[in-house]
Amino acid sequence: MVSPRCHAALLSRSTRSWCSERLEQGLQARSGSVGDRPAVSRSDSPTEQSVATLKGVGPRIGERLERLGIATIGDLLCLLPIRYEDRTQIPPIGSVAPGQKVLVAGTVELAEVVFRRRRTLLCRIADGTGSLTLRFFHFSRAQQENLKRGARLSCFGEVRLGPTGLEMVHPEYTFIGRGEQAVNDRLTPVYPTTEGLYQQRLRGLMAQALQVLERAEPIDHIAGRLPPDWPTLAEAFELLHAPPPDVDKDALLEGTHPCQRRLALEELVAQRLSLLTAGRDREREPGEALSARDGRIDELRAHLGFELTGAQQRVLSQVLDDLARAQPMHRLVQGDVGCGKTVIAAFAALVAADAGRQTAVMVPTELLAEQHVRNFTQWLAPLDVEVVCLTGSLGAADRSRSLEAIANGDSAVVIGTHALFQDDVEFRALGLVVVDEQHRFGVHQRLALMLKGSTPNAIPHQLVMTATPIPRTLAMTAYADLDCSVIDELPPGRTPVTTVAIPVARRAELAARIDSHCDTGQQAYWVCPLIEESETLDSQAAEQLYAELFEALPRRRIGLLHGRMRPRDKDAVMRAFKSGEIELLVATTVVEVGVDVPNATLMVIESAERLGLAQLHQLRGRVGRGHEASNCILLYKPPLSALARERLGVMRETTDGFKVAQKDLELRGPGEVLGTRQTGLMQLRVADLVRDADLLPQVIEISDALYATEPKRAAALVARWNSGQLRYAKV
Ligand code: ADP
Ligand code: MG
Repeated sequence: MVSPRCHAALLSRSTRSWCSERLEQGLQARSGSVGDRPAVSRSDSPTEQSVATLKGVGPRIGERLERLGIATIGDLLCLLPIRYEDRTQIPPIGSVAPGQKVLVAGTVELAEVVFRRRRTLLCRIADGTGSLTLRFFHFSRAQQENLKRGARLSCFGEVRLGPTGLEMVHPEYTFIGRGEQAVNDRLTPVYPTTEGLYQQRLRGLMAQALQVLERAEPIDHIAGRLPPDWPTLAEAFELLHAPPPDVDKDALLEGTHPCQRRLALEELVAQRLSLLTAGRDREREPGEALSARDGRIDELRAHLGFELTGAQQRVLSQVLDDLARAQPMHRLVQGDVGCGKTVIAAFAALVAADAGRQTAVMVPTELLAEQHVRNFTQWLAPLDVEVVCLTGSLGAADRSRSLEAIANGDSAVVIGTHALFQDDVEFRALGLVVVDEQHRFGVHQRLALMLKGSTPNAIPHQLVMTATPIPRTLAMTAYADLDCSVIDELPPGRTPVTTVAIPVARRAELAARIDSHCDTGQQAYWVCPLIEESETLDSQAAEQLYAELFEALPRRRIGLLHGRMRPRDKDAVMRAFKSGEIELLVATTVVEVGVDVPNATLMVIESAERLGLAQLHQLRGRVGRGHEASNCILLYKPPLSALARERLGVMRETTDGFKVAQKDLELRGPGEVLGTRQTGLMQLRVADLVRDADLLPQVIEISDALYATEPKRAAALVARWNSGQLRYAKV
């Protein structure tokens, strides 16, 4: 499987600046338009002043802050702690134990530089209850001179057991004068930082920033739109940068403190505003109006071999309308597994081909690429539209033949995996980009492919398809820049899959059940346990299971499919399964996305308790694609955790992808609604789309209102939360 990060590098420097420029231009254009409120000017507020006005910020520190995306005092306040340390108490040294991170105070009894393997400064402090050694491997002459007998100091660090008793290695320490208190009355924040910018320095700067806050509240762009009992912006910053010792620490650590929610809400509003703006800007982008030749849409419809469902029909007309406009389409088609999204893409490709433009279809696995090539060819070849496959596994000769057909325009439809990105792929006239199973790709990959076809005069149309149904409020936030269509109807004649969960101890019975199942002429999948994110281990588990079943089911024709097989072998196995030659397919989760074999009506999933709801739903979606009733058997190893029990319960109760997704969101288990691969889509600092999902209705309401009536505030909010290098990722 391709990690979305691998391809970040493909986005050239110019691409990045292209994106952020677009966004900035858009914002300027928007904020330049006449709003009915007074302008919100940067210099109005002390928090909008440069960090250079703080003591201790010269060019060097200024440059390091800039690396963190911090230019103004307000930006600095938005740099929130990643965790907190408790320095509000000083336990007696005699009471501390190895492993604790604590603040201690004492008087230096002995300080010496020793030379065992390396030069080391050892300094013993004591407080009457016990003593502790401070160990420094790097130290300056000044440090050595200051840490002398009789000096009083407080140190913070992790206690460990050293050769001569308790010690701290390189603690943070400060000298304390006579009668002075060493404790802090606030929890100590720990910030994300960059090289050459240390915690102490950041804390010092933050203290100054908080003083600025005391003099003047930051502009609250969403004031008056929140419930009155919510903390103000200033209260939120103050608490999060300097939490009082009696703060609800658990809430703070989980990110659910009201002050964190106040900022999370604002960040999500800013986020959605930036996507709305990006979406609006696209309406000004040049695109090419594409339409099919007369009668061709009907011709394709006529030889599909099935009638489109009402939902497919509706989404198809939306897509055809988009394509006929002189602006690039940016449409997301959501629909549960098996609802028939592929055929919509085929219609769009036909339109592009008729208009003399090429279509690139990007899919996450080779298996899916090959399946799509078969389907598209079956549908489009009779209309003289040539389809070609481009995957990483093509032989050199095949690849260069494909590349030539793509470059000279003979191939109207190119279907492939990430290999489509490679530099040597030149399209003659790319007009449409289709991304299938979008949740498997990063935003960069989508963007890079789209840019491949961009000319100064036109940007390709984009159709993005996903089978991960996501709740509406989440879609409206994460995909605010896309137009969304939903195929909410399955083709007729499908019977819902019946799901049962059984403990792994009853596994042996299953072999007999598979035997009689296959006797009826139907086929089955048996999906192996997911060992970890390791293809090698997964593949080994698959081989082992294959060997066991081979023994147990002598009459059956069994196939094996895993990620480490050669692509040619994978393809051969898949073809054999599709044609019915193989009756039982033992596979890893490579069959998770897209694979379509309607005669397969039984799915066994091993270690189901370890998979997230979204993945279970995807796997189950491989059956229930034909007219026969289908079954899904979830094997689990007791005892089940409460979360796993609930997940399996959801799978038994519903086959509706939207309900599954909603439940997934509530349960917040791993493999959450958006999936780990998708989190790169939005880089959030305080907010968490899953944890803060209950804020989304408010986020939508507030951002809609600001977007419609207060463009300057909207732009100011986006500027507050999208600083520096994070910006490009959000387009
Ligand atoms: P998904 O939305 O999961 O990508 P597919 O596009 O793979 O689903 O479609 C699933 C199966 O349903 C395919 O075999 C496809 O040919 C078939 N199909 C699609 N639309 C219809 C329809 N309207 N009636 C009957 N079968 C259909
Ligand atoms: Mg599909």
